[in-house]
Amino acid sequence: MFRAHLAYLKEQGYSTISFYDLDAALLTGSLLPSRPVILTFDDGYIDHYLNVLPALRDYSFTGTFFIITALADANRADYVNWAQIREMADAGMSMESHTKNHVDLRGRDYDFLVYELLGSLESLAAYTGQTSHILSYPVGHYDAMTLQVVGQLPIWRAVTTQRGALHTTDNRLEMPRIRVHGGTGPGGLASLLNAN
Ligand SMILES: [Zn+2]
Repeated sequence: MFRAHLAYLKEQGYSTISFYDLDAALLTGSLLPSRPVILTFDDGYIDHYLNVLPALRDYSFTGTFFIITALADANRADYVNWAQIREMADAGMSMESHTKNHVDLRGRDYDFLVYELLGSLESLAAYTGQTSHILSYPVGHYDAMTLQVVGQLPIWRAVTTQRGALHTTDNRLEMPRIRVHGGTGPGGLASLLNAN
């Protein structure tokens, strides 16, 4: 099903870009390809290494993967480990933060938020050799304090689980996304893309 989605995107002339490409376009006016799309994958399931990575490569697409870094540290069989994350980064994928432990970021104090956010960014930089500046809020949850701390850290963009496709410089820390459920066929994907 995922490969059918990628085939649809390719046929329709979509090009994958990164959040860094989007930022460059919005901030400096650099050109994007026609029909640009950012493909995001949360949680760092092993499926992302075993199935998503080869499929993206077959279509010359790239993706952005939000990693729960404590799970990578734990070297579990069901999540990507650091060697796999490094390989994905080397293949041109954006390996970004889904925090250290994937806990609710609402109602937390400054030190806790810095630990969860900056800690994950530092692990990613250490293991991939590339700096990461993009965040996905665990389960899409955040509050005013979260936004304040995220705004003070080297996080350039953050994505939510709210639905939408409008990306500007104003909502850079509250970017909506379009969720594609497991049962969505290529026709359903077309409806989702054309509705937004
Ligand atoms: Zn998640």
